[in-house]
Amino acid sequence: MNKNSSNTMALTPTTSNKRETVCIFGTGDFGRALGHKMIQSGYPVVYGSRSTQISNLIPKDAEVLSHAEAAQKAAVIIIAIQRQHYNFLTPLAEVLHGKVLVDISNNLKLNQYPESNAEYLAQLLPGSKVVKAFNTVSAWALQSGTLDASRQVFVCGDDVEAKQMVMDIVRALGLTPLDKGSLLAAQEIENYPLQLFPMWKFPMFLSLGLTAFFFVYCVVLDIIYTYIYENNNLSFFIAITIPNRVCPVMALILLALVYLPGIFAAIIQLYRGTKYRRFPDWLDRWMLCRKQLGLIALAFASLHVVFTLVSPLRAFVRWRTNRGIISQALNNETEPLDHTNAWLSDSYLALGILGYFLFVLLGITSLPSVSNNVNWREFRFVQSKLGYLALILCTAHTMVYGGRWFLNPSAYKWYLPDIYMLSLIIPCAVLVVKFVLVFPCVDKPLTRIRQGWERNPKYSE
Ligand code: NAP
Repeated sequence: MNKNSSNTMALTPTTSNKRETVCIFGTGDFGRALGHKMIQSGYPVVYGSRSTQISNLIPKDAEVLSHAEAAQKAAVIIIAIQRQHYNFLTPLAEVLHGKVLVDISNNLKLNQYPESNAEYLAQLLPGSKVVKAFNTVSAWALQSGTLDASRQVFVCGDDVEAKQMVMDIVRALGLTPLDKGSLLAAQEIENYPLQLFPMWKFPMFLSLGLTAFFFVYCVVLDIIYTYIYENNNLSFFIAITIPNRVCPVMALILLALVYLPGIFAAIIQLYRGTKYRRFPDWLDRWMLCRKQLGLIALAFASLHVVFTLVSPLRAFVRWRTNRGIISQALNNETEPLDHTNAWLSDSYLALGILGYFLFVLLGITSLPSVSNNVNWREFRFVQSKLGYLALILCTAHTMVYGGRWFLNPSAYKWYLPDIYMLSLIIPCAVLVVKFVLVFPCVDKPLTRIRQGWERNPKYSE
């Protein structure tokens, strides 16, 4: 009996779970979606609106009052109203004095105003404590419940206590607050939702530029050259043959470009003898978009796989095979199996399959849901060790494809090398330098530098 009663005591909450009322100015899309989420999380919500008529879109447990009445009921007021209407708040300065005002607004253009919306709000109401938050969360995501728990909410503000109150609300909604510091950070936070795939720009432009270059290069060598010198119209190569030559080349070059900045970084650190000096900006930016480069490379590799698998269905391929058979039949001869060729073709396919398998593995582990579930060492093992193995296999796949053609003069139409030869330049350079870097006499000092050792310490006595 005693035991039971002590258990009951232990289960009795000692602190109250009751949450403070939150006021939301504006019953528009965002105000309603956020209000909904807050009520679900246990916050009493009161709306401040120009019209106190309850519409059935408004969460049913919420109150709707005039702005002044609503503001009096809460310490935290979320301003879910566009910046251009902020001056209606000036007459409310007295009632908003000392309150925490959460600015969630966004603009239509980058750096649309000289100061951020949050700083503008703080200038209008100097007696209030302005905090910037929630602007990177969309009303749709709030309402549809598609926000995952790791979704970050950037928060900034000059008043530490006010910021803390807002971060507590963010946490209570199941989101993760990320403190970005003072209100000076508001402009940067307001620019986030206006950026269009910032990390994808360089990889996309680079891929488009290289693809266009290699495509034209192939058209010139495979179609125009053949037409001029052999009077043979192979213009249909544009549909599958040339894309299937450009895709693997792009996949290999982009995969090598994922590892090239790491090589540059190692050389720079070895040369400087310290890791405490910043890399040049171009290298920093390149390092930051390695994942995107890798994913585009994977997309090219996947296209190459699909193009290759549909090859037997192509009329041209069937015609070429039939021609070979018919010519043997007409000449009454059977070509013996060329064992070297059989070896080369099987090795080429095996290397390609293994390389692609690792490529896919790299792509999967770069997904946040997977990378969040592996520790740093496991992630590095896959991305670095298996990544290099994928690069070695794909480079070998291309070399074996070239086979004996490298030394054959007919492979150089108009004295130009074939694109698969061009595609080998960067991967081979990366692999050769990496090979040098793993030598103990180079690897040891590099590892020490990366652990903080400096050749010429700045602060030595
Ligand atoms: P909205 O649907 O147009 O709602 C804005 C609300 O502001 C209106 O419903 C109205 O509420 C109030 N309002 C309009 N004109 C006013 C005036 N002259 N004076 C006082 N109040 C006025 O816009 P929203 O999509 O909810 O966006 C609101 C704010 O949230 C914007 O700054 C936006 O940048 C930001 N935001 C939106 C999203 C989103 O996904 N929608 C995401 C992040 C941030 P009452 O009729 O109740 O007065």
